[in-house]
Amino acid sequence: MSQPATESVSQAYDPLESLAATLFRPMGSDGVYARTALYEDMVERLAAYISRQRDPRAEILRFPPVMSRHQLEKSGYLKSFPNLLGCVCALHGTEAAIRSAADSHETGGDWTKSLAAADLVLSPAACYPVYPLVAGRGRVPSGGLLFDVAADCFRREPSRSLDRLQSFRMREFVRVGTPHEIMAFREQWMARAEQLASELALPCTLEVANDPFFGKVGQIMAVSQRQHALKFELLIPFHATAQPTACMSFNCHLEHFGEVWGIHDSAGEVAHTGCVAFGMDRLAVALFSNHGLDLARWPTSVRQALAL
Ligand code: ATP
Ligand code: ZN
Ligand code: MG
Repeated sequence: MSQPATESVSQAYDPLESLAATLFRPMGSDGVYARTALYEDMVERLAAYISRQRDPRAEILRFPPVMSRHQLEKSGYLKSFPNLLGCVCALHGTEAAIRSAADSHETGGDWTKSLAAADLVLSPAACYPVYPLVAGRGRVPSGGLLFDVAADCFRREPSRSLDRLQSFRMREFVRVGTPHEIMAFREQWMARAEQLASELALPCTLEVANDPFFGKVGQIMAVSQRQHALKFELLIPFHATAQPTACMSFNCHLEHFGEVWGIHDSAGEVAHTGCVAFGMDRLAVALFSNHGLDLARWPTSVRQALAL
């Protein structure tokens, strides 16, 4: 019996699925996985490799997986990606109120109806907390500022594909300064990223991109972002027939965060900002999917770069 075309597509062999059994363990939710020692060791080696590329002037900060809800609201996240945001909620009130809400679960009730939003959201990207921090320090010194930041990020985009997780690690180099400093930073990093991909023997292309802005207004924002070439991505195919996946992004925010937070450069102008993001989990999956699960057989340049 012949199958309808759509069915045969959805049942097509996914080479990434064969990796999953070795790299991850299920946790009962799509895009949320426990990581095996083999996988986690690779993420750590990648992190160390990226650290070796860091500008020595960069200030290093590691953020927790949550951030201030107020700060993210003020950053404009709800305008652009309300569908992706996870917000921390908790039970509140008297002991009796909390007890009764929690106990309703035992009798088939919905305890989540009693939740109230806390002052925290799950960080959707690593760089958001940098800008209010910089604003609190007064004028940006001449020469601008550089940061090396990282966070566990959450985005509500459940998927069964290993390259789209709900909980994933993001590392970023962030630049604050004049428009010229931001553009130079981004240019330098786009060239650098291609060299790194080549050292890691990962096939790649660098392409202008847009953020997945929400809704109809979002489509207009996406077109404008592309027209102004504000975002580029380093795309890596995970296997021969795969659509390439964005493993790094190179973002120019113009004066957006400078205006929102009142950040000024040494000349008193509104500061510009930009960031280079490494999708740590996507890069790790890209390495395994391109080079296999047997580390001893990885190309020499890759083994050297990752100190294997
Ligand atoms: P995509 O278009 O694939 O959704 P994005 O434009 O949303 O990517 P950015 O916001 O630029 O991605 O995030 C920086 C990097 O974080 C991405 O280049 C990618 O490597 C990684 N990343 C983003 N979303 C996910 C996800 N759901 N799972 C794993 N890694 C992700
Ligand atoms: Zn960023
Ligand atoms: Mg996305």
